[in-house]
Amino acid sequence: MINIAIDGPAGAGKSTIAKTVSKELGYIYVDTGALYRTVGLNALRNGVDTKDADGVVATLDGLKVSLRFVNNEQRVFLGEEDVSEAIRQNEVSMAASNVSAIPRVREFLFDLQRDIAKNNNCLMDGRDIGTVVLPDAQIKLFLTASAEARADRRFKELTEKGQAVDYDVILKEIKERDYQDSHREIAPLKQADDAILVDSTEMDLPTTIEYMLGIIKERI
Ligand code: C5P
Repeated sequence: MINIAIDGPAGAGKSTIAKTVSKELGYIYVDTGALYRTVGLNALRNGVDTKDADGVVATLDGLKVSLRFVNNEQRVFLGEEDVSEAIRQNEVSMAASNVSAIPRVREFLFDLQRDIAKNNNCLMDGRDIGTVVLPDAQIKLFLTASAEARADRRFKELTEKGQAVDYDVILKEIKERDYQDSHREIAPLKQADDAILVDSTEMDLPTTIEYMLGIIKERI
C-alpha cells in the first residue's frame, strides 16, 4: 500500500489540500484530527475538563470511535452516531488539542490509524503521522504557513460563512494551539527528518495543490 503523510499546524490548509489531492490519486483521505476531536467532544459532552488527564482517560472506557468511508469520503463515528459535523464546533478544537496531549488517548487511537494505512492506499493528515504513526510512509510532506497567513484564511472562511469573528482572537487561538501542539511531551508537532517542507504563506490554494501534487507524482 502507498501511504502519504501530511503533517503541519492548524489552519495550514492540510485538509482542503489533502481532499483534492487524494481524489486526484484515487486514494482515501484520512483526517486524523477528527479522531482527537471526537474524543474531545465526548469528554465535553460528559462534562469532563479536557485538561484533566485522569478524567479524560476514564471516558475512554467502553468508548468506540471509528472511521467509515462513504464514496471515499471520511465520516467519523462516536459509537453509532455520525459526529462529522458536531466535531467542527470551535470549542472542540481546543478540547481536541487538550486531549491529544494525553498519552493514553494517543495509544487509544494509534491502532485504528495504523490499520487503515495498512489496508489502503491513503493520504493521512495530522501532526505526528510522518514521525510516529507512519514513520515508513513513502512520501512525507510538512505543510505550514505563517500564523498570520493562517489566521487570515480562517478569518475569511468564517466571515464568508456569515459568522461574526474577531481576527485577533483567531490569531491568538492559532498561536495557542501551535504552542500546545509543538511543546507537548508525546508526539509533538514536528517536521520528520525525511519530510519535504512546503511553506504556503505566499502561495494560494490552487498553486499549493499543484505544487504538492507535483512532488507526489514524481515519487509514486
Ligand atoms: O487537524 P485538527 O485541527 O482537526 O486537529 C485537532 C487537534 O488534534 C490538533 O490541535 C492536535 O492537537 C490534535 N491532533 C494530534 N495528532 C494528530 C491530529 C490532530 O495531536 N495526528
